[in-house]
This record gives sequence, structure tokens and C-alpha cells, in this order.
Amino acid sequence: MPRASLGPPLPRAFLLLSKTMRKVLVLNTTYEPLNVCSARRALVLLFKGKAEVLEQSGAAFRSARATYELPHVIRLQSYVHVPRRAAAARVSRRAVFARDRHRCQYCGSERHLTVDHVVPRCKGGPDTWDNLVTSCAPCNRKKGDRPPQQAGLRLLHKPQPPEPASFIFMHVDHIHESWRPYLSFAS
Ligand SMILES: [Zn+2]
Repeated sequence: MPRASLGPPLPRAFLLLSKTMRKVLVLNTTYEPLNVCSARRALVLLFKGKAEVLEQSGAAFRSARATYELPHVIRLQSYVHVPRRAAAARVSRRAVFARDRHRCQYCGSERHLTVDHVVPRCKGGPDTWDNLVTSCAPCNRKKGDRPPQQAGLRLLHKPQPPEPASFIFMHVDHIHESWRPYLSFAS
């Protein structure tokens, strides 16, 4: 069966873009973060008129014939329905880091991260969203097998199941500054 035309033919140059070359934040029509895609995918969406640029990266991709500005944030032109799956997301080390934006929940450090049981395991603390937090190794050592207050530590945020945008943080190691205004932060 012949395939329906999906719009203008794509510039060949897009194929040269490495899939991992640059990550682009994709927002729904409502400005809600949807996912993270490759620069190549983002250019295809823009080229087909399926998305608009909200933030440029300042970087460009040059082919023999043309120069394409690479975006940092794009917004889809038609609404995508997303099932609310995050609340049921499985607890994992990676997911806890993602929810906590890769920051120690005691001091805010972004280095030497570990997962800490707020109520220590040996005191019956479970592996649940409200008992696991990201902690840097120094804070974790300081805390030891004690509840935070007893170790002189305070949680910056009360740990909760992740908001839907959290899964975005599972796919990237670094959050561009230009993304931050579009990512709502749990308080
Ligand atoms: Zn810390």
C-alpha cells in the first residue's frame, strides 16, 4: 500500500545529526513538559510544522546547503494526551535522583549522590517514595542510622511521589538552564 505523504521531504542533512548530539525539551500545547528528544527529531518536527521553537540553543548545525539553528525547547502544535503514569512509577535509585533533580535533599549538593532512607532501614523504614531521598555521601555519612533531626539534618522538601515531569529528569544527566522555567518544581 502506498504511504501517505507526511509533508515536504526532509533535508538529507538531518540524517547526519547524531541522535545523542543534543537534547531538546518538548512541551505540550499546554506548555506542560512532555519528554526529551534528540536535536534531529526536534528539527524534523519543526520542519514539518508540528512544533514551534520556544528557546534556541545558540548552536547551529551546518550542512552543505543550509544552516539550521538547534533549539533547546520546542512546543508541539497539537495536543498530546498523556496518561498519568508517574504516580504509579516504580521506585528506583534513578527515579529518586530524577524526582529530586539530582540534588542532595539535605544540603543541595549535586555531587557524590546516594539514596538515603529517611527512617533508616534498620528501624523499619520502607523503600517508598516518601522514605527515600537523594543525599550526598557526606550528608549520608553524617546521618548514619539516625533520623535526620537526630543528626542535625533537615530535609529541604518533604519526599513525595514524583510529579509527571519528573520522568524527564530520568533521561538526561544535565538540565539546561533554558529548560528550568518550563519545568515545574515540587516544593
Ligand atoms: Zn548533602
